[in-house]
Amino acid sequence: MLKDSDRIFQNLYGLKDTSLAGAKAIGDWKDTKKLIAKGREWLVDEVKASGLRGRGGAGFGTGMKWSFMPKETGGRPVFLTINADEGEPGTCKDREIMRNEPHKLVEGALLAAAAVGACAAYVYVRGEFLREAEALQRAIDEAYDAGLIGKNSCGAGIDFDMYVHLGAGAYICGEESALIESLEGKKGQPRLKPPFPANVGLYGCPTTVNNVESIAVVPAILRRGAKWFASIGRENNTGTKLFCISGHVNNPCTVEEAMGVGMRELIETHAGGVRGGWDNLLAVIPGGSSVPMMPKALCENAIMDFDGLREHGSGLGTAAVMVMDKSTDVVKAIARLSRFYAHESCGQCTPCREGTGWMSRMMQRMVTGDMTIDEIDMLQEVTKQIEGQTICALGDAAAWPIQGLIRHFRPEIERRINDRQSSGTGRAA
Ligand code: SF4
Repeated sequence: MLKDSDRIFQNLYGLKDTSLAGAKAIGDWKDTKKLIAKGREWLVDEVKASGLRGRGGAGFGTGMKWSFMPKETGGRPVFLTINADEGEPGTCKDREIMRNEPHKLVEGALLAAAAVGACAAYVYVRGEFLREAEALQRAIDEAYDAGLIGKNSCGAGIDFDMYVHLGAGAYICGEESALIESLEGKKGQPRLKPPFPANVGLYGCPTTVNNVESIAVVPAILRRGAKWFASIGRENNTGTKLFCISGHVNNPCTVEEAMGVGMRELIETHAGGVRGGWDNLLAVIPGGSSVPMMPKALCENAIMDFDGLREHGSGLGTAAVMVMDKSTDVVKAIARLSRFYAHESCGQCTPCREGTGWMSRMMQRMVTGDMTIDEIDMLQEVTKQIEGQTICALGDAAAWPIQGLIRHFRPEIERRINDRQSSGTGRAA
């Protein structure tokens, strides 16, 4: 379990003062100038050495991503873009940072900008997060007034500006290149890569896109040292992480824990356990709606980090843990997610545009058993033809929950089909 002294987010629930004075009282903005003075290379190397992996879902090394930013840009400005879209169902961590610890994000943005040579940061906040955007804007205004950002930020000799941009609610704008398109005022549709944003990003300029949580933990890493961060969790899965626990638990919450915490320990310690007790657990979706679900048998000893969950055929994703007890209609739950992905497909690529709608219609039929046994295999086959065949990861996100359902709950699907057929209203094979 995470020791209190290792906790990065000390005001996650907003119980203390969230203003600049309150942020300084819990250690934010301490020695920022000295950290910037250590230079670009030191900043990148330190974050690399900490092992921090992106907290937005993909888990790519943050320091590694920064190191891809070009040193020579031919006079083009460099931008930092912060992804605060948080559209993954079940995920509610970045909004807590913006509400209650916005100065961690502002300070982290300045340090990240110093590391990649960016002159400005754009925070892309989902449109529904109006109050969070206001809280963040307040923090940015305070930082400008105190000389912490703006011209000669912190007196460290660099100029840095920060802007908040509200999106309009499309899930796909959480994909980094769609986010850039949307920021530019266009339809939020993912771009074909290459070129990658590090070379051709916002307004055609070198851009790095990072998640809110990834940026907000950077000041603590730089102040306390890469070794400290790397000492928490397991190799290749280091540090602390915000977990959002929802669904059939007694106390749904967002909590900071060490990477590698056991799933059962996480749910029982922080969320008051599964409704009706652990034995009433049916399944868990451990990382936001796009990762495959895990039945109870796999949850027992599951370790909550990138590698631990991959070993069980699932993923950490955004660490949004959705708990389903035995009262859940698991087929209906996944059918609902399928409808979500069909609705959110941007329509650019055929496998996703046509496939998500087709899968959703099949899933609606599966709910009532109005399909044949052969069609389960056909559906599985179609998910394989969508996975990895599209411009962005939405195709995978739509395919994986269905694959997880078929892998772990096939007997339940077959039972529905057989029941319907024996009632005389089933579909002919
Ligand atoms: Fe759009 Fe889907 Fe293709 Fe992504 S996979 S670009 S959401 S059509």
